[in-house]
Amino acid sequence: MAHQYYLKTEQLIRGRPCHSMANALLTGMIPATRLMVVLSLLLSQSVVQAQWHESTASSMGTEIRVKLWAESKRQADSAMTSVIDEMHRIDHLMSSYDRTSELSRVNQNATNKEVETDPELFSLISKALEFSGLTHGAFDITYASIGYLYDYRQGKRPDKQSIKERIAAINYHHVMLNTNNNGVKFAHKNVRIDLGGIAKGYAVDKAIGLLKDQGIEHAMVTAGGDTRVLGDHRGRPWSIAIQDPRNSNKTVARIPLQAEAISTSGDYERFFDEEGIRYHHIINPQTGDSVRKVRSVSIIGPQSVTTDALSTSVFVMGVESGMNLINKLKDYEAIIVDGEQRLKYSAGLQKLH
Ligand code: AMP
Ligand code: MG
Repeated sequence: MAHQYYLKTEQLIRGRPCHSMANALLTGMIPATRLMVVLSLLLSQSVVQAQWHESTASSMGTEIRVKLWAESKRQADSAMTSVIDEMHRIDHLMSSYDRTSELSRVNQNATNKEVETDPELFSLISKALEFSGLTHGAFDITYASIGYLYDYRQGKRPDKQSIKERIAAINYHHVMLNTNNNGVKFAHKNVRIDLGGIAKGYAVDKAIGLLKDQGIEHAMVTAGGDTRVLGDHRGRPWSIAIQDPRNSNKTVARIPLQAEAISTSGDYERFFDEEGIRYHHIINPQTGDSVRKVRSVSIIGPQSVTTDALSTSVFVMGVESGMNLINKLKDYEAIIVDGEQRLKYSAGLQKLH
């Protein structure tokens, strides 16, 4: 920001009071040319150092992107490192792919036996169950009781018999929480949980918190489909594109954002097509099959953990009941690309269109 940069220069000049410098100049103590050199050095240093920095990394099974405005390369590097370390830390706690994660330990041991777990994992599981209540079971982390049988890269899916055998395990009421000791117990056999619909949003919120703590005022953090921006893009809003679900080179909308989060859930993220039917990673807890009502759902709101959980939820709920839910929630808005590629906006956004 030009404003900031002037402030910095002014402070530097203030180190030696301006009036005495002017006096010194007038009295010939500092030659004018030398002063110009000193000033232009100060100016060029602050111009070169304060700038945008961008970085990408791989964590939580997806691409992490960070863009931030920092005063120096050192500040940027340390901020980037703390974000990526945080993503790895959360992944090691909450990944269902990592067999040594805390979540895997719960999945391996919680059937009919209480497992005392990490408080942070416990609290995100509790939050996930709150979203199950809010969405009447559309958001359900026990989807994984069948979800783990899909392999989208290999084009593998469970047959009807396997779904029939396990469908009763999908029910968030099977997850019993003991707040006294962060205990988790599954009250049904074959229950598995997976936080893939909420953990990336949670991690993005944590990352933004870390950046704020380090004095960063303008940043964007993205983990897969979950993005949160800190501040604005220095004088203008950030502009976030919503991808065309059927053409990755095209966008269907651009959203101006400032100090907000946006999450998109789409049927094009992890999928395979078989005989004209798309099998993808968002599962209807009622059937154990992929949901085929809409193509993508984007949710905008203050917190990434909530936009993440809601984008997955509304994808399961479909246009009508999904929009009814979002229209009841203060501060949250939705943009849906429906099954016919039409754009649908929640009430708060319709006013703007
Ligand atoms: P997202 O990445 O937010 O679009 O959410 C998709 C992810 O959420 C999937 O990859 C699964 O890990 C998880 N998921 C799928 N179906 C459900 C569901 N019905 N409720 C909660 N999480 C789900
Ligand atoms: Mg989500």
